Amino acid sequence: MNCAEARPLLDACLDGELDLVHDVAVEQHLETCVACRARRDRTIAMTTLLRARVPRPPAPTALRERVQAAIRAEMPTDDAVATKIVPMRTRPPAMPWIAVAAGIAVLLGFAFALLPTQSQSEGLAPLFADALNSHRRAIIAGPLVAVASSDRHTVKPWLAARLDFSPPVLDLAAAGFPLVGGRLDYVGQRPVAALVYQRRDHRIEVFVSPAEGESTPAWSARDGFRMSHWTHSGMRFVAISDLSEPEIREFVERLRAGEAS
Ligand SMILES: [Zn+2]
Repeated sequence: MNCAEARPLLDACLDGELDLVHDVAVEQHLETCVACRARRDRTIAMTTLLRARVPRPPAPTALRERVQAAIRAEMPTDDAVATKIVPMRTRPPAMPWIAVAAGIAVLLGFAFALLPTQSQSEGLAPLFADALNSHRRAIIAGPLVAVASSDRHTVKPWLAARLDFSPPVLDLAAAGFPLVGGRLDYVGQRPVAALVYQRRDHRIEVFVSPAEGESTPAWSARDGFRMSHWTHSGMRFVAISDLSEPEIREFVERLRAGEAS
């Protein structure tokens, strides 16, 4: 793949929208091409900046009223139909369209309530793509763990000695997710602690790095992997696994419950 072929695919690659063949081809090109890598990094920086700086205000009342007015403006058609069918005096009261408008307004309210989560997930696409690539590389090429231990008192100091932060390391063996070990990785344009847990023959990886803010898990799925991102107590967590959805959700909840205490 050359630059002319790679560049139109860069955004889709970051958004996790490419099939595996194209994804691998773009990644391979990026590994050898400084110019395209710079272009990708600028896009990631821009996305990160926009996500951090652009405010996400709630839907204003005026907008809701405009939507309701627009709905009312559309109603004469129905009224006209009603007039043709039903004589004026027996025309039903205007309640139905108010109910319809109210229903739509409620739906719009839900849609706007969901917006932050959706845009959050969209903004996280580059990070999720990066995490998935790192996870796959580690599984295919190894080593998945550089410090192999189920003892968090071994894994945590090993990581802390090699990073400029000390990641929280939990042992979730009692919950059925034993710790396997950890390694260093580079995800989201910074060194991260990679913690590896296990359930049966499935691996669960958690990338941990410092980050501001508090957020509940945002989810994404791609190529049979499920990924979750959340921030808590000055740390960003990205969990990734090919576990079933209920199991990876249980893992994330156990981890969040443990790290919260
Ligand atoms: Zn190139």
